[in-house]
Amino acid sequence: MKIEKFVFSPFFVNTYLLYDETKECIIIDPACHTKKEKEYLKKIILDKNLKLSKVLNTHGHLDHIFGNTFFEDEFPNLEFFIHYNDFHWLEKFEDTAERYGIVVGRTPFIDNFIEGNQIIRFGNSQLKVIETPGHSSGSVSFYSEKDNFVIVGDTLFKDSVGRVDLPTGDMDVLLESIKNKLFTLNKNTKVYSGHGEDTTIKYEMENNPFCK
Ligand SMILES: [Zn+2]
Ligand SMILES: [Zn+2]
Repeated sequence: MKIEKFVFSPFFVNTYLLYDETKECIIIDPACHTKKEKEYLKKIILDKNLKLSKVLNTHGHLDHIFGNTFFEDEFPNLEFFIHYNDFHWLEKFEDTAERYGIVVGRTPFIDNFIEGNQIIRFGNSQLKVIETPGHSSGSVSFYSEKDNFVIVGDTLFKDSVGRVDLPTGDMDVLLESIKNKLFTLNKNTKVYSGHGEDTTIKYEMENNPFCK
């Protein structure tokens, strides 16, 4: 599986494009916000002759869903996935954005509510859903045992963890998710976060000041 990372929007969100030898691809957290960012990501997909089939959201915060409606419009037959517990953020998308002075258009569409241990397939590849609540109650991580990585959204960052001051955020729950779910993965698992640098489970177990 190939994984490419893009940083979008004033919130510097990491968007991930995943694909394999079949050329089927998925986007995790389409955070592209400006027209230019959206067209840029679309062009990458078209230039590589990839077939986009799914959009997954690690959670519902507005900065991670900026690009959802663009891909809805541009790629018919796309499927959208989010955990049910974070669906309310999508319903509040326009209001929340307005509070930040951002115009976003309309509420994103969702086809599928995901849950823990669900397997999401594309091409010859698959990702396992791990429920990692705490940053928000519907935060999830996407794990590939075969390719040795986990995409964690805003649950875990290099040397840090996600904020818990927004509705449904809870530090105790967040730390439990990290210790009881993420830290039980293979230590060499690469960690792709929702913001900032990549890291590894091993590095965070040894160095993350929140998780000691
Ligand atoms: Zn967030
Ligand atoms: Zn974020």
